[in-house]
Amino acid sequence: MLVHRTIADFRAWRAAWSGSVGLVPTMGYLHEGHLSLVRASKRDCAITVATIFVNPTQFAPTEDLSTYPRDEARDLDLLKAERVDAVLIPTADEIYPDGYATYVEVEGLTARLEGASRPTHFRGVTTVVMKLLQIMRPQRAYFGQKDAQQLAVVRRMVHDLNVPVEIIGQPIVREPDGLAMSSRNVYLTPEQRQAALVLSRCVRMAEQWFTDGVRDATAIRDEMHAMIAEEPLAEVDYVSLADAETLQEIDHIEAPALASLAVRFGSTRLIDNTTLTP
Ligand code: AMP
Repeated sequence: MLVHRTIADFRAWRAAWSGSVGLVPTMGYLHEGHLSLVRASKRDCAITVATIFVNPTQFAPTEDLSTYPRDEARDLDLLKAERVDAVLIPTADEIYPDGYATYVEVEGLTARLEGASRPTHFRGVTTVVMKLLQIMRPQRAYFGQKDAQQLAVVRRMVHDLNVPVEIIGQPIVREPDGLAMSSRNVYLTPEQRQAALVLSRCVRMAEQWFTDGVRDATAIRDEMHAMIAEEPLAEVDYVSLADAETLQEIDHIEAPALASLAVRFGSTRLIDNTTLTP
């Protein structure tokens, strides 16, 4: 497995390959969720490349950029064990050198949900993803359904900007007790870790009610709010039941709908979601 730290090095290596390339962008501190993306790429593509980059432009000044968990040696061992072909680990200066002035902004979709709570977040995400697509020129790029809005925004961007890449979404990987895997789970105290199960309970409730025939979106949202209110360590950020494509809140489920929520436990903010398809 080759580890590149500069764009020039990566490009020189990439120039030798004409077969299909799959890209797995990550911020590191890898877990089974990330590795499921790697495995999907290995299955589909001749060459799999990963990136580890804690992208400063997607963090607000008040967020956890400086404390975001990192363990490069462990990440490299995990990627090597999956037989990843190459990894790009750039510095922030490599991606955003002096004088950097260009940003990609997707309108509309980014105003809601995560974007409402984190107004500058998606501008950072789309900018870095666009740059990685330009640098790595993959045929396919893999993203987790865990970040459902990110996936929708990236799909919108590559469609709107005619980027020749197939965006592939992969299911959420969970801990045995249901908590969606996240690099941020390490921030939780044991009590918060237990309380955080409310997220997956809400998701399972939404799925169960939907399976039982409930199509009243307001009733499902209300029940999610009530479940979070019962958990003393949990503070709701948002609860949503929205059209899966436009992310507009809905009253009735008639087309694929995204049930999603963001909840704080102390200073740690976790998200979860499920898609309900009639
Ligand atoms: P991150 O390192 O958190 O930026 O995540 C990198 C990629 O891994 C994103 O496409 C995430 O959606 C995906 N990912 C993170 N956690 C999970 C999970 N539990 N299941 C599936 N994909 C995930």
